[in-house]
Amino acid sequence: MRGAMLYGPRDVRFEDVEQPKIVEPTDAIIRMAATCVCGSDLWPYRGLQPMNGPTPMGHEYCGIIEEVGSGVRSVKPGQFVIGSFATSDNTCPNCRYGYQSSCVHREFMTRAQAPVLRVPLADGTLVPTPGVPPEDLVPSLLTTSDVLGTGWFAADAANVKPGATVVVVGDGAVGLLGVLSAKQMGAERIIAMSRHEKRQSLARDFGATDIVSERGDDGVRRILDMTKGIGADSVLECVGTQESMMQAIQATRKGGHVSYVGVPHGVELNGEELFFSHVHLHGGPAPVRRYLPNLIDLVWTGKINPGKVFDLKLPLDQVAEGYRAMDERRAIKALLWP
Ligand SMILES: [Zn+2]
Ligand SMILES: [Zn+2]
Repeated sequence: MRGAMLYGPRDVRFEDVEQPKIVEPTDAIIRMAATCVCGSDLWPYRGLQPMNGPTPMGHEYCGIIEEVGSGVRSVKPGQFVIGSFATSDNTCPNCRYGYQSSCVHREFMTRAQAPVLRVPLADGTLVPTPGVPPEDLVPSLLTTSDVLGTGWFAADAANVKPGATVVVVGDGAVGLLGVLSAKQMGAERIIAMSRHEKRQSLARDFGATDIVSERGDDGVRRILDMTKGIGADSVLECVGTQESMMQAIQATRKGGHVSYVGVPHGVELNGEELFFSHVHLHGGPAPVRRYLPNLIDLVWTGKINPGKVFDLKLPLDQVAEGYRAMDERRAIKALLWP
């Protein structure tokens, strides 16, 4: 079988890799229905994250179970399943508190940009859909594996409530689906910060009421202007840079909530600034597993269509073009058909 390997900056190759097989009795092997490139894959792709030699890529997946280990009880071959980018037993205290992405047995998934995938801790990680979906539902279901789950966590961690004023910093797939999530949670005003026309229009499609194209201090000033100088109730930071984090904190009202779900790269917070900001901060790797049953249901029943973030669909063997298009911001998110 062939899968995507990252050799170094801007060097993705689709090449022979080992065929996955059951290693632990708690494993499942799934035949991928679709996979994709993640915004977080761009950090190592751009050489902004250290690597130890050639690295197998991909952590967003859904598909049909081909085989399960002898210890797997809750899922079985033939089922269409979705799992998070972080595996979880779903039984340890962290999982029971709803933080499955910090499961004591967590592994971060990789090797998903391939036609077949081994998923550890299958019982706790995988959630079956009500049946095998029609092909046109697959892109939206795939988003639940990470970007929708992460956008949903961003909205939840920022305490989005009915009637709230929400700001979303970041117009990648996660930010756009943070807009969709805030809309689902009843936000009244959703301000998307984006300077990219195609992304602005998708943000409006997902429920954004306002667009702010300024960023940094200018962006903060615009948000304060729009909120009578007070700031927003909930701000979702979906980028992971120093500028976006400070923009999020400064655009939040006193007592408001900031969530941060962009993997931080070089972010440092000043204690004194944090002290006087008077905001709640909550974020981290999204516990996607907590939300999967609800998100699958919303997609399955046609209430949301998050698959619209995939504006590029390629055969899996053209995975390198998927990375290039996202790196050059020609595409929001690239779906890969095995
Ligand atoms: Zn991802
Ligand atoms: Zn656990």
